[in-house]
Amino acid sequence: MGLIASAAEMRAIPRSTEFRNGGVSFWYRELGLPQRRAALPGDADYDVCIVGAGYTGLWTAYYLKKEQPDLRVAVLEREFAGFGASGRNGGWLSAEFAGSRERYAKAHGKGPMIALQRAMMATVDEVIAVAEAEGIDADIVKGGMRIVATNQAQKARLLEEIAYLQEWGYWPEDYYLLEPDHEPRLRVDGAVAEAFSPHAARIQPAKLVRGLAAAVEALGVDIFENTAVSELRPREGGRGPAAVTEHGTVRAEYVIRATEGFTAELNGYRRQWLPMNSSMIVTEPLSAEVWKRIGWEGQEVLGDAAHAYVYAQRTADGRIAIGGRGVPYRFASGHDTNGATQPQTIAELWRALSRLFPAAGETPVVHAWSGVLGVARDWCPTVHLDRTTGVGWAGGYVGSGVATSNLAGRTLRDLVLGRSTELVRLPWVGHQARDWEPEPLRWVGTHLVYGLYRGADRREASRSVDTSTLASLASRLAGR
Ligand SMILES: Cc1cc2nc3c(=O)[nH]c(=O)nc-3n(C[C@H](O)[C@H](O)[C@H](O)COP(=O)(O)OP(=O)(O)OC[C@H]3O[C@@H](n4cnc5c(N)ncnc54)[C@H](O)[C@@H]3O)c2cc1C
Repeated sequence: MGLIASAAEMRAIPRSTEFRNGGVSFWYRELGLPQRRAALPGDADYDVCIVGAGYTGLWTAYYLKKEQPDLRVAVLEREFAGFGASGRNGGWLSAEFAGSRERYAKAHGKGPMIALQRAMMATVDEVIAVAEAEGIDADIVKGGMRIVATNQAQKARLLEEIAYLQEWGYWPEDYYLLEPDHEPRLRVDGAVAEAFSPHAARIQPAKLVRGLAAAVEALGVDIFENTAVSELRPREGGRGPAAVTEHGTVRAEYVIRATEGFTAELNGYRRQWLPMNSSMIVTEPLSAEVWKRIGWEGQEVLGDAAHAYVYAQRTADGRIAIGGRGVPYRFASGHDTNGATQPQTIAELWRALSRLFPAAGETPVVHAWSGVLGVARDWCPTVHLDRTTGVGWAGGYVGSGVATSNLAGRTLRDLVLGRSTELVRLPWVGHQARDWEPEPLRWVGTHLVYGLYRGADRREASRSVDTSTLASLASRLAGR
């Protein structure tokens, strides 16, 4: 099978007559796109101004207002709350934290890095608890996370990863290999090994972000939509930092940048976080007969151990949603406008779906979409508040942002309120990376890295080899 899906393969994909490509995401197709809130009416003053109404911005607003109800908080959003990755993701609310443990530990020691990993596990439960307390029904089921290896190289890597993570805050009960004779509650074709972690839940992402925006608004936060920020101005000569929009300028004591994958479009931030693409497809509901063959009663989130890995969930109404990298990066930090995905990517995802679940291979695909997430040059997430400029930020979660953004929101609350808590001492606080290379190096490099990862996956699938040297080369090139 070739690396690139052929035209015949693309035509062979069973598509529903209702098939749609883009439209933000399938998650919004379920809910209907929201009625937009009003734009900023003109110049204004607030205590805190947050730019971007995804999980990062909304969690920050939520915790600030909960802690200090008299704080005047505004959120400025270019489209509508949840338009970005927060309304498009794979719905893994998981304790996974991206980034090299060694890199954080180098500056802060191993103990704080372990504390960060434990905080991520607690964050999964924190999100579930807040959703419950606020009456947000986001189809949440904490069924854990299952990672499958489908060849010997992947199995070896999975074993290595378990051993590695157990050095960095996962105890043996937090992530472990399932016994070969475990009850196969989820039958994945060709699985040669499976690992499990209880620290993950399946969610419907748009339901979470929509509910969170409503909760934040009910607390008294002003959310302005259709309000694009063009520039962030630092504190200057006794004047607070500002967010500039075509509707007016918001001045505040602190301005928080919560635009993750879109950050490159802001003046002065072009090379800070690379907008990495991720794409998804979802099937029509599977028949009872097909579900009987697959199992998946536990609703775990599911991933594989490939270099260009896929992530999947069983939706509340019995579909399979599966995602992967697709075209990793668009030239000059471009991105899709409304989530439309290339036919090639749809074919690749369908190929992965029918490889893992041949029984589902005949079920029509009903929707495909994409989104962007943010990646720093050293692939390490960060949260920070610069007291001199008055500008704070969080992001670079590298595809593990659903839970991490909640930890970021609570950390930004403590930083803004000047609290000396355990959260502000975690090692990702204040972490900085150098900028990405200018174009065309950025485009060539990213495509080369993912080309190598895909080549490595093909080599590993076709022979019994250890982690392919192609993948090691790709990781070195990427600077991970
Ligand atoms: C397809 C896909 C699948 C993913 N799957 C998972 C997963 O399963 N699990 C996981 O943990 N993570 C996943 N991620 C990553 C995760 O969704 C993100 O890291 C997370 O949602 C980032 O939240 P955010 O609020 O920082 O950014 P976003 O949700 O992207 O929000 C940023 C907001 O800022 C707004 N904005 C941008 N520029 C401006 C401006 N100039 N002025 C005003 N507003 C602006 C945008 O419109 C947007 O609403 C996935 C991402 C994608 C794209």
